[in-house]
Amino acid sequence: MVQKNKTKNKVAPKKHLGQHFLNDEAIADNIARALIEKNSCKHVLEIGPGMGVLTKYLLKENSFITHAIDIDHESVLWLQEHFPQLTPNLIEGDFLKLDLKQVINEPFSLIGNFPYNISSQIVFKMLDNRKQIPFMVGMFQKEVAERFCAAPRHKEYGILSVLTQAYYEAEYLFTVDEHVFTPPPKVKSGVIRLKLRNEEPDIEQSLLFRTVKVAFNQRRKKLRNALQQFQLNDSILQQVGFIDKRAEELSISDFIHLSKLIEQHGKTHD
Ligand code: SAH
Repeated sequence: MVQKNKTKNKVAPKKHLGQHFLNDEAIADNIARALIEKNSCKHVLEIGPGMGVLTKYLLKENSFITHAIDIDHESVLWLQEHFPQLTPNLIEGDFLKLDLKQVINEPFSLIGNFPYNISSQIVFKMLDNRKQIPFMVGMFQKEVAERFCAAPRHKEYGILSVLTQAYYEAEYLFTVDEHVFTPPPKVKSGVIRLKLRNEEPDIEQSLLFRTVKVAFNQRRKKLRNALQQFQLNDSILQQVGFIDKRAEELSISDFIHLSKLIEQHGKTHD
């Protein structure tokens, strides 16, 4: 009898779907454990399970229900064959287009070795749905992972850092080498953990986002110049000590404060 060729049956990596399959079991276990040890949700959604290297550690846990979504038909078929217990909670589709409430109508945690081409968009969707997604453990390309977690005055500190950390506590957990993936990506990866803060900033999300984006769009300029479109009186910026600062010097709470000043004293409509 001809032996089934296992290698041939593996999912062929597709570049346009950002497929880099992790082949180090210890690292997969570590990523899953970073979630399991702090998770308090009854449901966990994995984005992009691929061939299930992470999924199998999630399925071993019985303190939560594991759901997964992958856009790749071949991966979905592979998962159905190798993890039949996942099948009722396995979706073939695009996470960015997913109606979250329709899939899981209560809070859930997010996990994944995310496709790098859409990783920032995944976090923006998470921010927009933060009440439903209070917790996340994810792998990103290292530079992006660092941006989510960066502190003021660091070169990685920017829009992603402020918007994420305004709502979530961000922790950089560990770096993963390119050679543990098939095919290896061009850059290293980083695993981070985000936990929703107990208190929401007392400012409308759209105004905070706009303030942060405008401030960092001209990150080399002093705020008095970078923020001109809001027509804030110099004396207000002077009072709070922001006038000669640059965006990268403001903390998260400074940005929240600045947005409130803009809301109260600035021009926010054309
Ligand atoms: N978790 C696996 C695979 C990571 S590769 C591992 O660590 O080995 C990224 C995975 O995300 C692939 O399986 C890819 O098909 C999937 N993917 C890409 N874009 C997606 C999208 N928009 N929605 C859901 N899954 C997506």
